[in-house]
Amino acid sequence: SSHPGDELLRSLNEAQRQAVLHFEGPALVVAGAGSGKTRTVVHRVAYLIAKRGVFPSEILAVTFTNKAAEEMKERLKRMVKGAGELWVSTFHSAALRILRVYGERVGLKPGFVVYDEDDQTALIKEVLKELGLAARPGPIKALLDRAKNRGEAPESLLLELPDYYAGLSRGRLLDVLKRYEEALKAQGALDFGDILLYALRLLEEDPEVLKRVRRRARFIHVDEYQDTNPVQYRFTRLLAGEEANLMAVGDPDQGIYSFRAADIKNILEFTRDFPGAKVYRLEENYRSTEAILRFANALIVNNALRLEKTLRPVKPGGEPVRLYRARDARDEARFVAEEILRLGPPFDWVAVLYRTNAQSRLLEQALASRGVPARVVGGVGFFERAEVKDLLAYARLSLNPLDGVSLKRVLNTPPRGIGTATVEKVEALAREKGLPLFEALRVAAEVLPRPAPLRHFLALMEELQELAFGPAEGFFRHLLEATDYPAYLREAYPEDYEDRLENVEELLRAAKEAEGLMEFLDKVALTARAEEPGEPAGKVALMTLHNAKGLEFPVVFVVGVEEGLLPHRSSLSTLEGLEEERRLFYVGVTRAQERLYLSYAEEREVYGRTEATRPSRFLEEVEGGLYEEYDPYRASARVSPSPAPSEARASKPGAYRGGEKVIHPRFGQGTVVAAMGDEVTVHFEGVGLKRLSLKYADLRPV
Ligand code: ATP
Ligand code: MG
Repeated sequence: SSHPGDELLRSLNEAQRQAVLHFEGPALVVAGAGSGKTRTVVHRVAYLIAKRGVFPSEILAVTFTNKAAEEMKERLKRMVKGAGELWVSTFHSAALRILRVYGERVGLKPGFVVYDEDDQTALIKEVLKELGLAARPGPIKALLDRAKNRGEAPESLLLELPDYYAGLSRGRLLDVLKRYEEALKAQGALDFGDILLYALRLLEEDPEVLKRVRRRARFIHVDEYQDTNPVQYRFTRLLAGEEANLMAVGDPDQGIYSFRAADIKNILEFTRDFPGAKVYRLEENYRSTEAILRFANALIVNNALRLEKTLRPVKPGGEPVRLYRARDARDEARFVAEEILRLGPPFDWVAVLYRTNAQSRLLEQALASRGVPARVVGGVGFFERAEVKDLLAYARLSLNPLDGVSLKRVLNTPPRGIGTATVEKVEALAREKGLPLFEALRVAAEVLPRPAPLRHFLALMEELQELAFGPAEGFFRHLLEATDYPAYLREAYPEDYEDRLENVEELLRAAKEAEGLMEFLDKVALTARAEEPGEPAGKVALMTLHNAKGLEFPVVFVVGVEEGLLPHRSSLSTLEGLEEERRLFYVGVTRAQERLYLSYAEEREVYGRTEATRPSRFLEEVEGGLYEEYDPYRASARVSPSPAPSEARASKPGAYRGGEKVIHPRFGQGTVVAAMGDEVTVHFEGVGLKRLSLKYADLRPV
């Protein structure tokens, strides 16, 4: 008889099955890319419910992104009953959810807001202004983030810094940090790093809360465990407790977030931290063809600081890994776009991965000009666009009138006659009387001359505050109407207001899916950077290598495989940095299921100057036989055959353009595939591709 539990085991290999059958106590699933780690977690959760009598409301699964959480939840809903009650989320959403319920116990106000990076920067600027200091907010923000990710007080990091950091002496810097924290508190706000810290403190200090949360998380799973930072590690450990029904899943070769204080030590030391832990190794790769996997394996063995792992392909053979050598970044983008066109739809099968956000622009343009639909995943995210941020600021202010950053954003947007002079007066009033900005506004509306604009604004906010407790969509609809926001967009952005209106529409669509406004804002605060709402269907995905983690696509392009970009110039000075770059490349190539293209440009603009580049050392480390040079233009796209080069010219650079038939004393007859300077790449029948020097190889035209 067929049993739901048996069904769950049947589609797994033996090692995966063992992991799924693991019941109580700690377990580590450590395995290479595409070996089914995430799939194992999904099946384990389903199996706990179907066969072990565990309630969905006792299971927590932590994923790396919100999108991954949603996908996992969807899959589980299709597999078992009651999956709606599962707790599947990122560390940050999990922590925020705990704070929404119990936050008052660590001094949080009920309507507290989460500041994103822009808000955080705005607040730092304000603090600097208030203290009369001239300094760059960027490094200060970086310092705060680093400290919070590590779970250390920012002051304790000062010792690692030079005497003058961000243009400030230590004493001044301390003042800024202190004032920043006070300002956050006064505005009823948390920054991103605070979320986990507050939750951790709550669990550490309040045994009652810990007990309750643990009941909701009797069985814990953490995917991408190699990228947990110290705070997430402590959070996991605390939740897991003595029982430690914890399954951690990860691949130390894919640790790529050390800049956010992630530490692959957490995975390497799992069995020490959780004595008695069972270790499960998965060794079959279901994702990529043999050709792709051989390339990936040959790449990652060059890391010295790693655990040996075995990873065997399930899909034999496959298309060769192809390398395109572009003249410059423009040529590279053209190649990517034309190759995607040549392959044809469905375009959402394709991902183009790059090291830095800036690389996306030329790619976007090249695709757009050929009518290939594409979307950038991450980068300047949807929720960071000005129009979206305006509307969200209204929402946040309605829920939390203390939020000064949002208040200043919307006070005169759309313009309603509240000029900077008025704002300064209100600010002075706030300081003088020790009032929050919003309260000072009320006072100002009584005492200042020409109070009409202020009164209008206050009346609007009163309406919005009432609506803030209803459905999110209704709130925004009213807001748009009451402020005549679309008309403002038309005025303020004549060139692209249509795009912006579309973003507003998209925001309404997203709001419709949420229940309340608060829930919606929390979701937004957590997805701000990495993810985009809306339909990915039919579009090429452009994203950084970092954002590609955990995903898979039939066709993958990794562009900019050159020194300075991959490895990135900022990581060259240490072995750890270099090895993290190699892992990043490894993450990129292991996203590919069927076809993998690599490319680099022979010259690229760096800080406004065009510089000659060299191909990545990572390419040199991989045996030539594991990839081929590829150039569709030179090989086949020629309109008329060029005359065969004469014997005399045959060994000079420039003698070949591609497509010529040649003969080589050892390899026999072949076709020139690519030529660059003194080097040609020739495909010899029965031999394969060879890269030859014209000067030394005795190559003759046929
Ligand atoms: P990454 O390290 O990149 O996160 P992963 O180890 O989590 O990879 P999955 O994403 O779980 O790997 O699986 C990779 C692909 O292989 C998926 O398409 C998955 O459905 C498929 N797969 C995994 N195990 C099996 C199996 N036993 N039978 C068939 N397909 C499988
Ligand atoms: Mg995975």
